[in-house]
Amino acid sequence: MTSQMKSVCVYCGARAGNHAAFGQAADDTGAMIAANAWRLVYGAGDVGLMGRVANAVQSANGKTFGVIPTHLLEWEVGKRDLDHFIITETMHERKKVMFMNSDAVVVLPGGAGSLDEFFEVLTWRQLGLHEKPIFLLNINGFWDPLTALLNHVIAQGFADNSLLDYVQDVPDVAMLETALRDALS
Ligand code: AMP
Repeated sequence: MTSQMKSVCVYCGARAGNHAAFGQAADDTGAMIAANAWRLVYGAGDVGLMGRVANAVQSANGKTFGVIPTHLLEWEVGKRDLDHFIITETMHERKKVMFMNSDAVVVLPGGAGSLDEFFEVLTWRQLGLHEKPIFLLNINGFWDPLTALLNHVIAQGFADNSLLDYVQDVPDVAMLETALRDALS
């Protein structure tokens, strides 16, 4: 049954950020993923927004699939009570295993790690290596500067307008749910 479930990969901060709205959005995203009988794929940490999303999925009896590299087990508090808990040698393997086991990607507020993950799937999409939908959960306009940067890159002639077609900006979890249902049906 699990193999037929759609899986939603969530990239997000290993910290909670400075606004309560970020943690709330992580809780709501986790509950929403479970309510739709989708599986959470994420970085297997129990810290920051990562932990909030995973704990919310589990509280709602949802399925979880986590991937963490050996060297981060302690730092990011590897969450071993997941349905699938995979330990990789490297960060690259972690990203690959997460991506290969996902049907859609959602990016919550986060730091450089979340940006790295986002840009990797965006550039793969740009190169035609996949067609998985990518969503930016733009809580409190957190990702507005990122969208502005992408527009700047396009305006300065370093990417086609289509770059923005690969990313859907959604302002809240309710809109994310609607967009994911469309994408995963
Ligand atoms: P951050 O958004 O910086 O809080 O990081 C979110 C997650 O991304 C954490 O699990 C980090 O370990 C992970 N991360 C950080 N750098 C990288 C990287 N280069 N490749 C893959 N994951 C990363």
